[in-house]
Amino acid sequence: RKGSVVITGASSGLGLATAKALAETGKWHVIMACRDFLKAERAAKSAGMAKENYTIMHLDLASLDSVRQFVDNFRQSGWPLDVLVCNAAVYLPTAKEPTFTAEGFELSVGTNHLGHFLLSRLLLDDLEKSDYPSKRLIIVGSITGNTNTLAGNVPPKANLGDLRGLARGLSGLNSSPMIDGGDFDGAKAYKDSKVCNMLTMQEFHRRYHEDTGITFASLYPGCIATTGLFREHIPLFRLLFPPFQKYITKGFVSEEESGKRLAQVVSDPSLTKSGVYWSWNKESASFENRLSEEASDAEKARKVWEISEKLVGLA
Ligand code: NDP
Repeated sequence: RKGSVVITGASSGLGLATAKALAETGKWHVIMACRDFLKAERAAKSAGMAKENYTIMHLDLASLDSVRQFVDNFRQSGWPLDVLVCNAAVYLPTAKEPTFTAEGFELSVGTNHLGHFLLSRLLLDDLEKSDYPSKRLIIVGSITGNTNTLAGNVPPKANLGDLRGLARGLSGLNSSPMIDGGDFDGAKAYKDSKVCNMLTMQEFHRRYHEDTGITFASLYPGCIATTGLFREHIPLFRLLFPPFQKYITKGFVSEEESGKRLAQVVSDPSLTKSGVYWSWNKESASFENRLSEEASDAEKARKVWEISEKLVGLA
């Protein structure tokens, strides 16, 4: 049978390119989990995806009710779950003030980390039930986790501190909207959320890989400087960022190429190792990358996991 893969945020950028790459093989049915149904439908059509290869289901990661509703709808649809890809993200580098999810969490960490945390915890059962030969849970990471690169060291750097802000709920009411308890910084909140994504992947691996056989993986697909992720940035940045990445850092990767990379992590029979953070070299060959100290801190991963469980109502 065809593999069945859920991809969050498949309405643009990396998620869409991955959906397209997998659909084109004819071996995958893609469930596009998106907050804007019409946008997703238009995106799938303009990418030339054949109708029988995808289904769109509503998911707004900035609302935990919506996450639970998605899980119910998905189960009712009868599709098996062979691979889950947590890809969606928001990035708010120019925001002066924090904004919040339905439950009152700062929006970047609330969407990118907490929404996906609840989704993947709930869907773990469904992954376990699948009879597919290689079941995978993939959480898209970012370069902010590797300090062995220039881009991973650009300020403001990710830093989760002692997690005091997260423990207080990131509400910004009587506490800080930032994980480390500091002042709001949109770019840092995004990077912090990506470190949480990579810590979550490793904690999943430690807790569940041996018993379930599920492959847990993360990746940095390269700098896809043209995606909607940078839509909130100032116009001059959006003009100069793609050529800067192309010619100066040489980290630039097209949306199409990045989609092929993530599609490899979904389906390539040679990429079944669990607990790995994949990257690609200049020849576009995959390799196991090293994570920064913070992004591979097992004690922090456990704490982020436990606090997140409380925040999303699992503990
Ligand atoms: P895009 O902005 O193009 O795509 C982000 C996707 O997330 C969109 O489909 C968007 O939906 C969706 N999304 C945002 N908020 C929500 C929400 N509340 N509920 C459901 N879906 C939501 O960015 P990219 O393709 O660049 O980013 C994809 C992933 O790649 C992210 O995890 C990002 O961190 C990662 N990444 C990107 C890099 C880059 O250089 N671009 C580099 C490294 C990692 P909508 O279409 O409705 O806005």
